[in-house]
Amino acid sequence: MTKRFDGTRDLRRAVDRLARRLPEPLEDLAWISYNYLWSWTPGGPELFTTIDDHRFRLAGENPVRFLLNLPERDLLRTATDHHYLERLDTVARRMETDLARPSTRVTPAGPVAFLCAEFAVHSSLPVYSGGLGVLAGDYLKESSDQALDVVGLGLFYRRGYLHQRMDRSGWQHEYWVEANTGQLPIVRVRDAEGQPLKVKVPVWDSELSAQVWRVNVGRTALFLLDTELKENTPLERWVTARLYEGSHDIRLAQYALLGIGGVRALDAMGISPGLFHMNEGHPALASLEIAAQTAAQLTGERPALEQLLEINRDRFAFTTHTPVPAGNETYSSEEFFRVLGHSIDEMGIDREQLASLTRIDPSSREEPLGFSPLAIRCSRTTNGVSRRHGEVARGMWQPLFAGRAGADVPISYVTNGVHLPTWMAPNMRELLSQVLGHDWERHAHDANMWHHVDEISDVDLWDARCTMRRRLVEMIRSRIVVDRLARGEDVNLAVSGLDAFDPTNLTLGFARRLATYKRLDLLFHNVDRLRDIIDHEQGAQFVIAGKAHPLDNEAKTVAQNMFSVNRDMGLLNRVIFLEDYDMRVASALVAGCDVWLNLPRPPMEASGTSGMKAAMNGSLNLSVLDGWWSEGYNGQNGWAIDGSTLDDPREQDERDARALYDLLENEVKPMFFARDSNGVPVVWLTRIRASLRSLAPMYSSARMVDDYNERIYRRH
Ligand SMILES: *Cc1c(COP(=O)(O)O)cnc(C)c1O
Repeated sequence: MTKRFDGTRDLRRAVDRLARRLPEPLEDLAWISYNYLWSWTPGGPELFTTIDDHRFRLAGENPVRFLLNLPERDLLRTATDHHYLERLDTVARRMETDLARPSTRVTPAGPVAFLCAEFAVHSSLPVYSGGLGVLAGDYLKESSDQALDVVGLGLFYRRGYLHQRMDRSGWQHEYWVEANTGQLPIVRVRDAEGQPLKVKVPVWDSELSAQVWRVNVGRTALFLLDTELKENTPLERWVTARLYEGSHDIRLAQYALLGIGGVRALDAMGISPGLFHMNEGHPALASLEIAAQTAAQLTGERPALEQLLEINRDRFAFTTHTPVPAGNETYSSEEFFRVLGHSIDEMGIDREQLASLTRIDPSSREEPLGFSPLAIRCSRTTNGVSRRHGEVARGMWQPLFAGRAGADVPISYVTNGVHLPTWMAPNMRELLSQVLGHDWERHAHDANMWHHVDEISDVDLWDARCTMRRRLVEMIRSRIVVDRLARGEDVNLAVSGLDAFDPTNLTLGFARRLATYKRLDLLFHNVDRLRDIIDHEQGAQFVIAGKAHPLDNEAKTVAQNMFSVNRDMGLLNRVIFLEDYDMRVASALVAGCDVWLNLPRPPMEASGTSGMKAAMNGSLNLSVLDGWWSEGYNGQNGWAIDGSTLDDPREQDERDARALYDLLENEVKPMFFARDSNGVPVVWLTRIRASLRSLAPMYSSARMVDDYNERIYRRH
């Protein structure tokens, strides 16, 4: 067997180094810190928060940084705390058992390599921006839980995605923070000689060098490519500086690194995937590297690119997440080849043949070039991410399948799901453990099991909901004071945030990327009706969060309008915008809100996943029937707004806003405030149970990964 240099040995060294700094009884903390499995193992996060909650938060919930900076006396105190050591032992044994299970091959030829431009594994590893990354992170975690032979491959953005600051007018400003690699739970992969393993990918007129980092996500390895090397020019180093850069040149270079560099990195580490799963079109150039490898093995005349892709079609699967043509990035032929030409020539690929495979109409000479058509053409299957999105994608890509009717376009769907142990609040997990039985999390997709939620008493379920809401209110209060001070607001206004929200009031959340199609403005469509809903003894309160892309001025304007309407309305402590939405904020919001709002302009929401996270926590969805909700809603498990489309968008906004206010006034509020003699909203709880029973099994990542295994990876 050839020896693999895939970072295993390098991780062991890093763990040993950290362990040497710890008192002997705490040594297990070293390897635990270097595997994000701690973050979803029961009792894992508490291993760090009980040592020093405040410092752990200051360390960005990154255990390596936390331990490296912890004062000696705290370590010594903890090392003699027997109760703590028992808990440490329990978590360590649990993780060890999990990691020791044998893996199952998904495809006979080798592991599945999951390629994606972003991964949201944990808030301390900021190489994600939103839903696509969360899906990729949840997929890796679920694969680990199911002991599947999967590796992840992405890019290591040193400055990650943007951090958000709003000014007093509500205008978004961005800043970036550079990662300190020495204190993250990642290691540089080294080769047999102990030198950093590197891959080269020609871009522009030069050769981009990249090193490889390894992150352990449970049993699954995630490899991240990084161009911050001294042999690279400043421009080349910038390639992995930030996620979703505005410049087309940088993006093309990133996608070359991800696709071509990704295959080369796996080769160099001795990993030979049976299947490349391309999550979104960004990594599609991987198909060219594989085609070039095939060509190199053939004798005789080199086949055309199309034939080479055909030979390898079984090795690729493509998941598209984009519901509108405009969402698919395209490039002019000039910029495409300016960045990628050198690589493409070196692989012996004909530029014209490639260009035509990246166009919807291969015979066009004007159409811009895109990765989605290439990804569809090189893959054995293409799928959308919800039933409705599958239909939309079939319509959208029909021109690629000339002669086929819409319904016969070979694009299927696998509806997204979320990783339950990551997104369910600890108190909810504990409550469910009491009725769902031993090891229930391994059977999250078993619909029969979820019928047992009916056995939870009203009082217990309501208590759990109130605890989650109270925790959210506490978080909002502490953050809003700081957010306001940082914006330069009046100190009195800032401090009044300590009384913001009422922990017993109906709490509604809207948090997602601030893209205009998400229609945050719908909430503020009729300010009088909104004020009526909020400003009432039995009132409501709204928490809002989300980032706009730095170049999306339209979305920034929507946020700014919201600030100004809110100021005029004078309900500043009842409608609150939380800055810098990320996984941590998301966790608190999806658990603490009673109602989760989603108001996309249909059919623009391919799936959406935050509503699934909310449902897992007993929060109820009120959403437009688009994306996952158009299949998840059953009449009893939340509320729905018509998902049909009108030609006039203004008319549609008017209709949908009216539907939203009507539901809030006539159904949501009365139901929330209808209480029995114990103060419990019995009908509301019935709806929560209906939501858990119907949604938890269907929209867990366990069901999603099963679907990928059965419908996409294994061909019948
Ligand atoms: C879940 C999540 C998303 C995706 O939410 P949508 O419902 O798909 O908009 C985006 N960002 C973060 C931080 C998340 O946790």
